[in-house]
Amino acid sequence: MQQELTIGWLYPTLMSTYGDRGNVITIQRRCQWRGIPVSIIPLDAATDAETFYQVDIIVGGGAQDRQQEIVMRDLQGRKAEAMRNQLEKGIPGVFTCGSPQLLGHYYEPAFGQRIDGLGLLDMVSKHPGPDAKRCIGNVVFEITASPLAEELRAMTGTRPIVIGFENHGGRTYLNSVSPLGKVIAGYGNNGEDGYEGAFYRNAIATYSHGPLLPKNPFLADWLIQKALEQKYQETVSLTKLDDSLAERARSSMFDRLEVKDAAR
Ligand code: GLN
Repeated sequence: MQQELTIGWLYPTLMSTYGDRGNVITIQRRCQWRGIPVSIIPLDAATDAETFYQVDIIVGGGAQDRQQEIVMRDLQGRKAEAMRNQLEKGIPGVFTCGSPQLLGHYYEPAFGQRIDGLGLLDMVSKHPGPDAKRCIGNVVFEITASPLAEELRAMTGTRPIVIGFENHGGRTYLNSVSPLGKVIAGYGNNGEDGYEGAFYRNAIATYSHGPLLPKNPFLADWLIQKALEQKYQETVSLTKLDDSLAERARSSMFDRLEVKDAAR
């Protein structure tokens, strides 16, 4: 049977800072290179809640505080419930920066009222105010969340080290949700506890732009594999692609950041 995937892209015009649309393109291209057709549907103000049930992967990018407020106002209610149901069911997703802030219990922006989140991830995010230093720069972290870390190690044969770029004022504090990984260089969730991102069911939440997936193609393949397995209820093994260019880019970034024994 011809397999195919549908990507749901959260609020493309409001949430796509620092090239996060590259995550959508990466999933699309890596599927197409393997002969798997992909459709992309926006999940935004013009979409009804039912559409959230038609997607096999959800991608959400970053946004500034004001855009996040608009998104949350639109998402509350049936759309939020549909997204929660999908992620609870195991639909994979990748959420960067502003999006994870909205998946937690709340986000306190630099100005104005607390924004209620979906409460899917047991964590909160707070902006310490306009005078606080932003967390900006390249970030490197090792994925430690289980079973993701083990699955990635089995897939690649190496330690799952992520390279990205972060730029956030908000700080995220985890409660019971598992961190995605441990910071090797950079700030991560809050610059204090050494954690980066969060992982729940098959949802990857991270502060890492970059965009994330072209710099860390193994994560794109993990998402594709999970999406196919979830959709077709069978074990999937993806054909290998030539990632030598991405590998060279990663190596040169590890050298630049003096991260010594990271995955090569
Ligand atoms: N508004 C959020 C913050 O500054 C997210 C920023 C972003 O997505 N890059 O923390």
